[in-house]
Order: sequence, then C-alpha cells, then structure tokens
Amino acid sequence: MDLSQILFQAQKEARELKNIQQWEDLYRKYLGKKGKLSDALVALKDLTVEERKKQGQAINHFKQELTQLLAKTQDQLRGSLKAGQRFFDVSSPAVKIPQGHGHPIMEIRRQMEEIFGSLGFSVIEGQEVTSEYYNFDALNIPGDHPARDAMDTFWLGQNNQRSESMLLRTHTSAMQVPYMECHQPPFKIIIPGMVYRYEATDASHDYQFYQLEGLMIDRDISIANFKGVIDVVFQRIFNRQIKTRLRPGFFPFTEPSFEIDLSCVKCQGKGCTLCKQTGWLEIMGAGMVHPNVLRSAKLDHSGWQGFAFGMGLGRIAMIKWGIDDIRLFFSGDLRFLKQF
Ligand SMILES: [Zn+2]
Repeated sequence: MDLSQILFQAQKEARELKNIQQWEDLYRKYLGKKGKLSDALVALKDLTVEERKKQGQAINHFKQELTQLLAKTQDQLRGSLKAGQRFFDVSSPAVKIPQGHGHPIMEIRRQMEEIFGSLGFSVIEGQEVTSEYYNFDALNIPGDHPARDAMDTFWLGQNNQRSESMLLRTHTSAMQVPYMECHQPPFKIIIPGMVYRYEATDASHDYQFYQLEGLMIDRDISIANFKGVIDVVFQRIFNRQIKTRLRPGFFPFTEPSFEIDLSCVKCQGKGCTLCKQTGWLEIMGAGMVHPNVLRSAKLDHSGWQGFAFGMGLGRIAMIKWGIDDIRLFFSGDLRFLKQF
C-alpha cells in the first residue's frame, strides 16, 4: 500500500473542504476506525520484518502529516462557523460520566442472598416498624426481662395495651413470629434489613445497622444442620477455608443458644491484631428456636423445631474489607464509598 499516494490524495481533498460535515467524512475516511490508516495497520501483519519496519515509519509519517493538516482545516472551518452553529469535535476525548456502584453493605447482602438462595432459603422482606409484642414478648422477652436493657428502643408512641405499642425493630428477629403465624412449616428463610438501637455510637456501634436473620423450621432439625449451613456460607463469603466454632451463649428466644466464632480470616488462626491474638472472630449469635417462641406462633404441639441465627452485615463487611469504624457505612463520605 503506497501511503504517500494516499496522503497526497487526502491533502488534495482537505484543501477542498467546505464545511464541518465534509471534514468529519474526510476524518472518517482516512483516520477513522475503518479508515485508510487502520487498513494500513492491519496489513502490517502480512509483511516481512524488514518491510514492516519501513512501512511502520511510513504509517507514522502519514498519521502525523494528516493529523496536523486536519487540525488546521478544522480550525479554519470552525472560524467560519456562523453564530449559533454548534461545532462537534469528533476527535476530542469523551467526557467521563461518573459511574455509581453498590454500597459495601448492599454488596454483602447481595452475596448472602445469593448463597443462602443456592441452599434453598427464601428471602423475606420485613417491616422496620413493628409492635412491642413481636419485637419482645413473642420472642420470650417479657417486660421485665433484662435483655430489654441491652436493646434500647426507639418508641413510636405508647399504647395503653402495652404490647401494641409501636417501635422501630431492634433486631430482625422481630420478623420470626409474624412469618411463622402465616406460613406453615417446613420452611427456611433469611430476613435481611435495617434495625435500630437508641444508643450512643462508637467505632463498633451505630444507632442503625443491617442485620440478617435466618430461620429454618422442619422436623428433625439439629445443630449439625445449622453448622453445615453457616460453614458453607462463610467459606463462600470470605472465599477461603474457614473454621467455625460454637460457644455457649444466651438469647431469650433460643435454647440452647450459641455464639459463633470464625477462624480469623487474616491470620488463619495464628493470632493477629484483628483477632486480638486469639485466632478467632466473633461473628454471630444463634440457637435452637425456644419452645416459647414456637408457642407464640402456635407451632408448639406439632413436632416442629428449628434453628435461628442473626448477624450484623456491617460486621461481616468490616472483617472482609478491613474497615475499622462501623459509622463510615452511613457517613455518606464518598472517599470511603468509592473504594468499593
Ligand atoms: Zn487473626
């Protein structure tokens, strides 16, 4: 391909340009994606090493000459534009449009829904406003129970009928009994959602945070089923071999209750600052559903049993990405959010 001939032709055509439309056509013909320059580049592969070197130089010369010439003619044509005519420069770099992305908590929620979904769990949306009955009493937390002190509550007006007072749910467990009241077991569900605590904030506490509740009710369910489920879930969330261990715990709505620890994702159990040299990370609470909770849902006399668990999605995101302050999630600070 004789580029000097083509360049000569292009220069001739450039001198005859009358308007921007013609200029754009000319640009496309010689320098565009399917133009002569591009053809010459494609043809390089069929040449010998020696020829390629020579033709490469010719291509550079062609591109440089024509780019300069077209820039000049463009300026001339632009100068002759009438007022009000808009000039569109096809060669200027495009304006970058900022692209949004998911919030880190939402990313963990999405992954959780996908993993639990693959294990046959349904995702349930619950209400953030619920009654004192469903948040406390139905879960075996009567009015004088000390567990209420641990969950300072945003009340939304008191009712004479005490258990009908409304509040912002302090945990996603508040959705357990409403769900069981209108669904016949067996079932396995997760309930992700925002919960609220009326309390002072610090690096590991905020007054609103995301929880994920799980509930599986069937016949012959044991703790082994529960451990099997969470082992799979955490291995897939953290994308590595993870060990879990159960320690005795206490929650009014489960019996027996457990605290679940995860082998440290940073040091693999050797001991580091993240796990405070213990090799383990506290991750969630769980247990077998308390008979009183099944009684609240009127499932107590029919042989049903199951497990329930609750975890903070913020805690999991913090471990996964090494975030040291839970308040960052709702700070709206773009410098933080843009990292994910
Ligand atoms: Zn560690």
